[in-house]
Amino acid sequence: MTLAIHGGTPVRSASWPAWPPPLDPAQRELVTKVLESGLWGATQGGSVVADLTAAFASRSGVPYGVAVGNATLGLFAALRGLGVGRGDEVIVPAYTFVASATAVLLAGAVPVVADVDPVDLHLSPGAVRDAVTGRTAAIMPVHLAGSPADMDPLNDLAARHGLAVVEDAAQAHGATYRDRPVGGLGDAGVYSFQASKAMTAGEGGLIVCRDQAVHERVWSACNVGRAPGGRWYGHPSVGWNLRLTEIQAALLLPWLDRLDEEIERRNAFCAALERELAHVPEVTVVPQPEGTTRDSRHLLMLRLDAGVDREFALAAMAAEGVPLDAGYPPLGTMAALTAEGARAEPCPGAEEAARTVVWVRQAMLMDAPEAAGDVAEALAKVITHCSRERP
Ligand SMILES: *Cc1c(COP(=O)(O)O)cnc(C)c1O
Repeated sequence: MTLAIHGGTPVRSASWPAWPPPLDPAQRELVTKVLESGLWGATQGGSVVADLTAAFASRSGVPYGVAVGNATLGLFAALRGLGVGRGDEVIVPAYTFVASATAVLLAGAVPVVADVDPVDLHLSPGAVRDAVTGRTAAIMPVHLAGSPADMDPLNDLAARHGLAVVEDAAQAHGATYRDRPVGGLGDAGVYSFQASKAMTAGEGGLIVCRDQAVHERVWSACNVGRAPGGRWYGHPSVGWNLRLTEIQAALLLPWLDRLDEEIERRNAFCAALERELAHVPEVTVVPQPEGTTRDSRHLLMLRLDAGVDREFALAAMAAEGVPLDAGYPPLGTMAALTAEGARAEPCPGAEEAARTVVWVRQAMLMDAPEAAGDVAEALAKVITHCSRERP
């Protein structure tokens, strides 16, 4: 069969589901209500941001939450609320979105990039142990692709060294670890509502936490340094306006009612694809870390055999009508971060992932499970043509 990139017929001509999905009636109704009320900002007496915050805290199994403009600022505010600042080091995984590290820089602290487990690609407890110094103040596990990081060993390490734990849950709304929701497993957890995420309002973020004093400091950081219940122009601490709007919250609150159904849908697609890929030995699904009880399937990560020319495979897959993504470069190799003081430990796991891993995007995972056949068929077709060993 001639590859589509060489003029052959593509495996798939149909389009994939759009992201975000179409507005549902509950979203339309609540957004309209907020728009007509004129209470667009979060300080005008509207209740949707408060309801969203309470719902997320409750779903995360903790009492407190603060909604913010995006997750980068949320991670920053969480670090600040936990007292992490100038001179401190924060350990972040080497295979993640750059914001995990730039949020640490915003807090005035030093990102220390530690390697990921070479198999599941999540922050490696062994690498964290090696990266801890007398200046380490926090670790930031990332629930990558919707799979929870293996939190027990990370929390044990944190407890032993007196470190705070900030969960980057930007990709993992609704995921559970040993039957407990992510976000509530460390000292603070941060979700993103940026356009590509599993729930979105175009932009947005939300911090959840367990401790009242931490909550007050996070809230203050996001509300121009005010004290909760304090004077409007009293600013006992330094803070910023990092707030989410009521309009954004009105897109998100009704979404919570269908989040579980969407997670099931993506899991069904992933299960079907994994079955189909049993016939394509050059491609394996990146496994979930120990302790995953519910993967929210933001992405599905696939590992291509080292012999496969990945760049050609990606171009050929796009031509077959199944565009995949190359994923992250290793964080430690980003010159812009090291120029700002970030430090990187050796990261062979992340470097290998950056060469061999591809992602199936969330929108594709929203299709019916039968469509997984197209992904597997296109992969099988492309792989036979782009193995470096057998051209
Ligand atoms: C998207 C993302 C962020 C940043 O979220 P924003 O809302 O875009 O600021 C942080 N960490 C991870 C792992 C992400 O995927």
